[in-house]
Amino acid sequence: MSASSPLGVALLIVSTTAAKDPSTDASGTLLKDVIEQEGGSRWQLVDTKIVPDDVVQIQRQIMLWADMTVPGGINLILTTGGTGFAVADNTPEAVSALLHKQAPGIVHGMLSASLSVTPFAMMSRPVAGVRNKSVIITLPGSPKGAKENLQAVLKTLPHACLQAAGQDSRSLHAGGVKKLEADAGISSSEGSAGHSHSHGGGHGCGHSHSHEHGHGHSHGGGHGHGALVRHTTSSANPMSNDPTLGPSRRNRESPYPMLAVDEALAQIKEHTPAPEVVTTKVNRDLPGAVLAEDVKAKANVPAFRASIVDGYAVVVPKDGNMKGVLPVVSVSHAAPGEAKELKEGEIARITTGAPLPAGATSVIMVEDTILKTMTDDGKEEKEVEILADNVQEGENIREVGSDIQSDALILRQGEQISAVGGEIGLLAAVGVGEVQTYRRPVVGVLSTGDEIVEHDRPGDLRLGEVRDTNRITLMAAARDWGFEVIDLGIAADQSGSLEETLRSALRQVDLVITTGGVSMGELDLLKPTIERSLGGTIHFGRVAMKPGKPTTFATVPVKDNAGARMRKVVFSLPGNPASALVTFHLFVLPALQQMCGATPAGLTEVPVALAHDFALDRRRPEYHRAVVTVGQDGTLLASSTGGQRSSKGEKIQALLMGGVRSE
Ligand code: AMP
Ligand code: MG
Repeated sequence: MSASSPLGVALLIVSTTAAKDPSTDASGTLLKDVIEQEGGSRWQLVDTKIVPDDVVQIQRQIMLWADMTVPGGINLILTTGGTGFAVADNTPEAVSALLHKQAPGIVHGMLSASLSVTPFAMMSRPVAGVRNKSVIITLPGSPKGAKENLQAVLKTLPHACLQAAGQDSRSLHAGGVKKLEADAGISSSEGSAGHSHSHGGGHGCGHSHSHEHGHGHSHGGGHGHGALVRHTTSSANPMSNDPTLGPSRRNRESPYPMLAVDEALAQIKEHTPAPEVVTTKVNRDLPGAVLAEDVKAKANVPAFRASIVDGYAVVVPKDGNMKGVLPVVSVSHAAPGEAKELKEGEIARITTGAPLPAGATSVIMVEDTILKTMTDDGKEEKEVEILADNVQEGENIREVGSDIQSDALILRQGEQISAVGGEIGLLAAVGVGEVQTYRRPVVGVLSTGDEIVEHDRPGDLRLGEVRDTNRITLMAAARDWGFEVIDLGIAADQSGSLEETLRSALRQVDLVITTGGVSMGELDLLKPTIERSLGGTIHFGRVAMKPGKPTTFATVPVKDNAGARMRKVVFSLPGNPASALVTFHLFVLPALQQMCGATPAGLTEVPVALAHDFALDRRRPEYHRAVVTVGQDGTLLASSTGGQRSSKGEKIQALLMGGVRSE
């Protein structure tokens, strides 16, 4: 840009009234006149927009102007309105959240000029600064105030705008401050403390002249002392880097607030979708499912009077004395079919679990009998001597429904069917073939990074290549926790392909886990892709913990198969293998458990004794990996797995949380 070509100005009128009826706006035309008539033909008004007093709309319009990457974009953005103390006055807050650099000098200039007119100038709360290559200034809404404020600073602004746009500051400053003032048409009152700043004196207001490094070097972001303004948490306002702006414009410190682990877990709980109820067959795939209903027995167990022992069914006489030799009149095996009715003085051979013949009142164990006579062919028992007296009715018999009564409550809603606890057998026994369960989410696992290669790719690694360990590890972990897993492969560090991969993943799965690409590098594209390309909301992008600081949790709007709007969950975990596995267990697992109705969500906590001193991080809660063994007295003993570098993949048996707990 040459110093003489006109500078582009955009004017944003912030007024709920004017947004409804533009004819009510008076400031817009007035400011246009000031720019054109008093701006020394340095300016060209290229756009004017009106928005209501709404933070999101103000920010959206300013970003559209300030984030434009076309050459000769907008050099100066002026807003008018919304700078007072009224409830609806939000403009300074909306703007300051967008500033990459603050310009308190401009604010001072405006305020001191209008304070000399009226003390009520105090009622204006202007902000000024730089976003990308645009200077932004908030003017008050009253036409008079807006005009005075603009007049107070307008002449100095070409200089600021040219610097912000990247013009070489040596040439800009070549003639010293006198020349600057003369060029700007300003005469300073020499020596008056109120106004004249010595530009050459190194006072640190943004004009340090000692640039030994390359001439013609762009100054836009290079001063290094412009305080980075932390962005607000407004979800409609992406905080992530705009990848199109390149590495020099990325945030140099994460703009995401650092959440405590508990706060992060609360966000996960709040934004993870509620479980969905489905009908599920009772079969060997059921373990892991959580019941969405109370389950009642559909039938009695046993369904018929059955013998508990191998022996002889008898009809007990009144006195209970069964002693004597009795004829074996029938046989009841554990098989379907009716046995002939039994009369007093007769016995029937019976096997364990077989139905009692009608009329039988008790079963004598085979151990309490002696075989007396056999049939002629010697193959069958004819008479058996019973050795028992004082026999009671009902001995060795399981009555109908004595194990489980029909209609009895056998399992409760919220219970998780295990593979080892016999729940499946219980359901099968009482004739329940289907149950209502919470649908278990399908998990997709994606690795990201240009350097990541399949772990089993034949041949040696080339310089810079890294074997993908996260995907296989997380897929195995999620599978082991009972979730269906889909392999989403490896995505390159390119916004376009990452966006496509995530879009197709969100069609197939309920929850996406990505690893890598959430650090501070310019190729760390997960956050920008989620926010800017997929329209997702990042609920947190930083957690106070070690390892796992950049762990990111987002929800993304999608349409389900029926076309209804819903949100799906994306966890973007750090790329380092230890970080990925720790954060999977701490954050992803509770979300998966919530989605499938399991409570309580998360890993079970158990107290352990430390086998040795643990050197823990004092600044961030540390999740120190440890191996837990059972000590001699039965207590659990934790020993460190050793060096805790997050890139180190090690065997994690237990996560010890350190630094936040003193007991
Ligand atoms: P990033 O978060 O993408 O900057 O990655 C941080 C570190 O983790 C880098 O050293 C990556 O090479 C490494 N890394 C990322 N993804 C994986 C993966 N899937 N398997 C192994 N290492 C990884
Ligand atoms: Mg990476």
